[in-house]
Parts: sequence; C-alpha cells; structure tokens
Amino acid sequence: MRFRGMMLVLLMAVALVGPVRLAVAQAGSSAGTTQTADDGSVQPEKPAYSLPPEKLQQAIAYSRARTVLGFAETGWGIAQLLLLLVLGIAAWMRDVAVRRSKNRWVQGFTFFLLFLLVTTLLDLPLSMYEHHLSVQYGQSVQHWGSWFGDQAKGFGLTYVFGGALVMLLFWVMGKSPRRWWFWFWLPTMAAVVFGVFISPLVIDPLFNKFEPLSQSNPALVARLEQVVARGGIEIPADRMFLMKASEKVTGLNAYVTGFGASKRVVVWDTSIAKATPDEISFIFGHETGHYVLNHIYKGIAFTGVVLLVLFWLGFHGMQWLLARYGARWRIAGQRDWAALVVVLLVVSAAAFLSEPITNGYSRAQEHAADVYGQEAIHGIVADPQRTAQAAFQVLGEQSLTDPNPSKFVEFWTFGHPSVSRRAAFAASYNPWVAGQSPRYFVK
Ligand SMILES: [Zn+2]
Repeated sequence: MRFRGMMLVLLMAVALVGPVRLAVAQAGSSAGTTQTADDGSVQPEKPAYSLPPEKLQQAIAYSRARTVLGFAETGWGIAQLLLLLVLGIAAWMRDVAVRRSKNRWVQGFTFFLLFLLVTTLLDLPLSMYEHHLSVQYGQSVQHWGSWFGDQAKGFGLTYVFGGALVMLLFWVMGKSPRRWWFWFWLPTMAAVVFGVFISPLVIDPLFNKFEPLSQSNPALVARLEQVVARGGIEIPADRMFLMKASEKVTGLNAYVTGFGASKRVVVWDTSIAKATPDEISFIFGHETGHYVLNHIYKGIAFTGVVLLVLFWLGFHGMQWLLARYGARWRIAGQRDWAALVVVLLVVSAAAFLSEPITNGYSRAQEHAADVYGQEAIHGIVADPQRTAQAAFQVLGEQSLTDPNPSKFVEFWTFGHPSVSRRAAFAASYNPWVAGQSPRYFVK
C-alpha cells in the first residue's frame, strides 16, 4: 500500500507508517555460483536463482513494466505539482479556501481537500494501471471494488492525518518563519514514532485481517519459538500474527512492525501455503533479525536524519522559488496556503534524488537480516544454506522476479538486494566451517 508515497513526503507521519516496516520479500541482479561436484570437477555456472523459460519471459516483461511505471509515477507526481503552480490551480484552490471562511481551520482543510482530490485523480490512471498489471501477471487477486475501497481508506487517512500536519506546519511557519524546518521536524518525528506505534493496531487492520498465528498454526509457532530461542531472545507467541494476505495477493512475505508494546512479527498466510516449514523458519529468522537488531528503531532514527535534511531543503528551496516565481504563481509568501504545493514540490524532488541513499540503507539492513536468518536456523533445519536459497527461489518465482535486473534500477529503487544476489549469498554463506564464525551467534 502506498499512501500516495512520494508526493506527500511532508506528511511523513502517515506516509512512513508504510515504509518503516521491514519485510522479507521484494524483487530482483544475478550472481552465479560456481559449483563443485562431489568428484571435485567444477560444474558450469548455475545461478543460485533461476526461472524456467516461460516464467523468465513473464518476469522480464513484468519487471520492466513495473520499473517504467515506478519512475513514471514519481515523475508525474512531481510534474503535476509544477503544473498546479504554473497553471495557477494552486492559487485558485487558495482563493476558494479563503473565500469560504475566515476561519483558518476551515481554510486549511478546504485547501488540502481540493489539493488531495486533484492529485489523487491525476494519479489514478497510473495507479489503476499498476493494479491491472499486478492482476494480469497473477500477483494480485484483488477485485476492483476492494481495490477502490482501499484507495478510499487511504484517501481518508491521508486527509485526516495529513490535514492535521498541514495545520501544524502553517502554525509553526507563522511562529518561526525562518526556523520552521527545524521546529516542524520535532512534532513530525513524534508523529512518525506514534504512527509506527499505532499502525499495527489501528491502520493495518483497516486493510487486512490479522489473527494470532497460534490459532491456525500451533505447530509452526512451536517451530518458530525454537528459532527465537536460539537467538536468546523472546518473541512471545502473542506477538506472532498471521495476515490473510491471500484475499488480495499471491506473493509470500513476512514483516516486523510496530514499536514497544505494538512490536510484532507478521507472517502472510500465502507464505505458509507456499513455503515449507524449513523455508518459513528461514523467512521468520530473517524477520527475527530485524527484531533483534533493532532495525525499526534504527530506521526511525535514519528517517529522522533524512527528514531534517529534506525539511531544510524544503525551506530554502521554497524561499528561492517564491522569490523567483511567487508573483507569476500568485503566491504571496510561505504563509499562503498555496505555498504548500511549493514546499511539496521541493521535498518530493529531493526525496526522489535521495532514494539511492535511503534504499542503500535499507538494502544493508536487509542483508544483515538475511545473515541473521541463516545463522538463526543453524541446528534447526538440516541445511541452512540450501534452505535459504530455496526460500529465495520460491519467493522470486512467486513474485515473478527478474533474475537479472538492471544495476541502475537496483541501485536506485531496490529496498532489498536482488533475489539473485540474496540467493547466491545464501548458497555460499557457511560460517560454520573451520576458521569462520557466525556474525550474530556464538556457534
Ligand atoms: Zn527484511
């Protein structure tokens, strides 16, 4: 689910509820492994992750379409903000809001409603095409009615939480015209932390059904408790949830989410249907890695640094744009409601340019979780290397992951290392041979 992601970067408290969640899945570069057979002869290179020919064709087509679409959505998101300014639509929205009432709350929420309606409608064709693609390639089984329902819920949530943040932003701008980027950052971070906390309790259940994992899979819970116990930590069974993902999607996944009392591990029911208990143990071990290595807290801290830079850029970029184009766009200054579009334009563009950094950070965390996951199942499954590699094979095959994605696309857009890379690492990682030692475990 994307709460209209990029475009509303400013409204991170809502938007971040999605991203600060660490999952196991995700698409796609290839790294072959040279295998040595029992007789010592070196076999021709066989990739650790590969697809049968007809699936390979589909995977390549699907991943290309998604890449193009992803960049198109981002580009269009930025272009439409520019159009709203240049065509005077942002100023018109401001006029409507100001004419309607003298009350600033009414003005702010009216302006934001118009803005959200227009940008949502402008985004709709690409969003619908994205859903169409995922159905066409068998990744989604969600009907249009349910899909539109999710969009409507996302819209409502963004309107309420985003609107509140917009009111706060303009209030802070009034109080501290030159330092608002810092003063606004403080409550935004509080909202991020709060958002991460309540998301699993309040937001996620609006979109999917959850139940305690032990309810339907007591044997699996017992198995997973072994993985947890090996890590010397505790994830009580009531912190393990099953998500009924199969009502909407076909791919498998699991993730760690929440904060403090809401911290939990969620396994999709699709994973349980399609992966073996050994493979699920690895997937779960990976999630345990996020949990044990405090990736949620680190992710929030990293987000804080990124946001502070984005807000600082937002302030300076907006000053510069208003000085140059303010008269042409009919925007008097930063306290003009229409200035929201200017600041979002700057922050969205900066957020897009920062993607390689944020995704690089995410890939490093995901790799650490892969290492942890493989170490965590040592002694529990017969062959951790083969199990982890097999899990990536199932994951990649199910989500039609291209075994050879472009290096540039991986660098810019991948929140996880490519499946090929992860599978190749899994196949070669064996810290239990003489002279090596596991990174996160004593043995
Ligand atoms: Zn992960």
